[in-house]
Amino acid sequence: MNYQSPKRDSSSAVDALLASYAAGAVSPALRALVSAHLWLSDENRNFVTALEHVAAREMESVPGVPVRARSERLDAIFATALDGAVGSAAARVEDGLLPQPLHRFMGRGIDELSWTTKLPGIREAVIDDAEGSEAVLYWIRAGRAIPAHTHEGLEATLVLQGSFSDQTGVYRRGDICVVDGETDHKPVAGTGEDCVCYAVTEGAIRLTGPVARLFNRLRGH
Ligand code: ZN
Repeated sequence: MNYQSPKRDSSSAVDALLASYAAGAVSPALRALVSAHLWLSDENRNFVTALEHVAAREMESVPGVPVRARSERLDAIFATALDGAVGSAAARVEDGLLPQPLHRFMGRGIDELSWTTKLPGIREAVIDDAEGSEAVLYWIRAGRAIPAHTHEGLEATLVLQGSFSDQTGVYRRGDICVVDGETDHKPVAGTGEDCVCYAVTEGAIRLTGPVARLFNRLRGH
């Protein structure tokens, strides 16, 4: 298999998210998150490209898949590939802060959002509040801690500016942090610069069927 293994030492939850993305099996809010990550960082591009190729071949080889579902999933993969192609060719950021795939998903600039102060030094702007999936931007003052919390389901966070850390690691612009309902964490913004993050909260990722098989094969399980 011709792909470069990511250097990250972070959780397999990020890998599972990338695999689901490659298979076209994530919500629009999560798709925007992963596309923006691939736009900002080259760390996982080869891994995702390899997964996409395997996913496409898997579609061809699986017998008895209804034509309609197969077509939709291939459309999702092609749309994903398009995101990457646009990302590498055009300007790096929109609005000074927003990667183009995220800007496109939001449909507005960061100045056009309505921000709510949740706690002193912590502001939130809701981007999308679909059933079972919430996407928000957080603006956390440098050095400020978010109260410890757990999640129902999965929370994926992409750093857009500054950094934050929790017990799972340190995350900077372009990095994704994934935590689930098992994780009790207390993110703290890095000092020196306010931290801006895009976070998506929704049901846990469950890898089943062809997606799980291709993911496990690439990971050598
Ligand atoms: Zn959290």
